Amino acid sequence: MTGQQHDDRRKNAGVLKVQPYLADYEATRKTFSWDQARRGLSGLPGGRGLNIAYEAADRHAIGSQGRKEALRFIRADGSTYSLTYSELAFQSSRFASVLRGLGVQAGARVFTLLTRCPGLYIAMLGTFKNAGVVCPLFSAFGPDPIRQRLQLGTGQVLVTTKALYRKKVAPVRADLPDLRYILLTDADGAPEPGTLDLEALMASAAPAAGIAPTQPEDVALLHFTSGTTGTPKGAIHVHEAVVAHYATGRFVLDLHPDDVYWCTADPGWVTGTSYGVIAPLVHGVTVLVDEEEMDVDRWYRILADQKVTIWYTAPTALRMLMKAGAERAAGYGFPALRLIASVGEPLNPEAIVWAQKVLGLPVHDNWWQTETGGIMIANYPSMPIRPGSMGRPMPGIEAALVARDSEGKPVIEEGEVKLITESDTMGELALRPGWPSMFRGYLNDEERYRRCFAGGWYLTGDLAKRDKDGYFWFVGRGDDLIKSSGHLIGPFEVESCLLEHPAVAEAGVIGIPDPVAGEVVKAFIELKAGNQPSDDLRLEIIGFARKRLGAAVAPRLLDFTTGLPRTRSGKILRRLLKARELGLPEGDLSTLEQGSRRP
Ligand code: ATP
Ligand code: MG
Repeated sequence: MTGQQHDDRRKNAGVLKVQPYLADYEATRKTFSWDQARRGLSGLPGGRGLNIAYEAADRHAIGSQGRKEALRFIRADGSTYSLTYSELAFQSSRFASVLRGLGVQAGARVFTLLTRCPGLYIAMLGTFKNAGVVCPLFSAFGPDPIRQRLQLGTGQVLVTTKALYRKKVAPVRADLPDLRYILLTDADGAPEPGTLDLEALMASAAPAAGIAPTQPEDVALLHFTSGTTGTPKGAIHVHEAVVAHYATGRFVLDLHPDDVYWCTADPGWVTGTSYGVIAPLVHGVTVLVDEEEMDVDRWYRILADQKVTIWYTAPTALRMLMKAGAERAAGYGFPALRLIASVGEPLNPEAIVWAQKVLGLPVHDNWWQTETGGIMIANYPSMPIRPGSMGRPMPGIEAALVARDSEGKPVIEEGEVKLITESDTMGELALRPGWPSMFRGYLNDEERYRRCFAGGWYLTGDLAKRDKDGYFWFVGRGDDLIKSSGHLIGPFEVESCLLEHPAVAEAGVIGIPDPVAGEVVKAFIELKAGNQPSDDLRLEIIGFARKRLGAAVAPRLLDFTTGLPRTRSGKILRRLLKARELGLPEGDLSTLEQGSRRP
């Protein structure tokens, strides 16, 4: 055995400790039904309906499980404190009581604008218990995106902190006539004028507010999309979504009772809610919550010291670790880790190779959207990973590829959408509606919702291919596709190739109009530490890509940059690269990460 192999064995000694829930993909797909998945949940006692908060907290609060750590928070100094399942159940019931005491009705939208603190989780579950609709906002949003979303969602209640209120809400408060209550989690007996002290209200609230008898189709969540392609849309989700969170938590994330689970997404985004709150709590595992922002050494320390067993993260975070260099992981061991999964953007094969080397495990990519509410396509723990592929559809999910015409519309033949049956042929990824976490509408935009469906399929707006074994391969977002000299080029393929060059840390690829070719491929490159931009390096990288991709697909143009524009959820904003390049309007920038703003 080589030293490296030995090291890998040591690092992932935990891999074989647990038998994956999905041991045989084909067999599980054949026998799976959503009804069967529903049986893994409890339902409200007395057959009174289905409520996410009951499944996530109260059903575990009974008996010895109640003393189990539900949420373990990591402070800036690395110390931790926890909430048990029974504390979470109790506190969220109190929060529901507060809402009830204030006269907040079922269906009212309760927004959260909080850092990752206990109040966030308590408010979310408490809102479900009062039959309200949770709308999480990302705490780094500025006043404008906050105002925009609160207005769109006619928020009646906002739960926030003193500092966030002062800085971001007070300046726009006058524009929010529907906002009846602002609850401060840290008012310390002295709420700001026009706000309420949540702790004081919690202390005096009746503790035993029961859970409102919500039904599976009652609205539970309003999530705004990342705004990668335009203005963020408000996707509406119902309590029934928890069935999909449960099933995907079991088959994709393989959540077992003793797991220590860490999802690095903020609950301000759908991943942070579906898989940072709901799915793991429904499975009764211990959920890690880092109160701080991403930091390379801190993250390695958390993975090692907290003995994380399952880690759900994003390509952008993995690329940041890669950029820092493998040596930064030296000295940390990850023997507890048994599964790494990733979502949000295409996962470059290079990241999988890197993780295997540095963390001792590969990364399992999966695909979904705010609209789908839960994971739809995945690489499962029991199946070999095909680097660069998103994997295969979840049991219970029927995925297909729809042929598109030259304008990007689905091809209809004899009243039916034309499905692509040949392998390795690109089409628009489509899903057969009917899974529990499918969005039930876009807020105030019925027409747009309707346009997402054709011939009995939900059209995702993403382009993909399927190989002969049924694995799906992401090509690009419909809007990002580059048409050059008769070729259709997906930016992901080009970016992944560029990342294989030793000097390249990040790459964003777009099409630039060209009178001869229609469009030519242009790449924007961030270099790894220790490399300087130069004409020679530019030519070298272009040459490197040509050798691998061929002249028709490789970038013709290449610029070096120090910061690609990204959404706050970490996605490269290609539409903004393009708008800046062509001097066009920059569009909605509410989700743009601060560091990527132009000076
Ligand atoms: P908007 O819809 O506002 O433009 P968005 O699509 O980025 O924003 P999300 O719902 O957060 O908002 O992201 C879903 C999209 O992210 C998918 O449609 C897909 O384009 C991309 N995505 C997610 N997971 C993957 C993956 N594993 N591989 C490739 N792309 C992915
Ligand atoms: Mg989208």
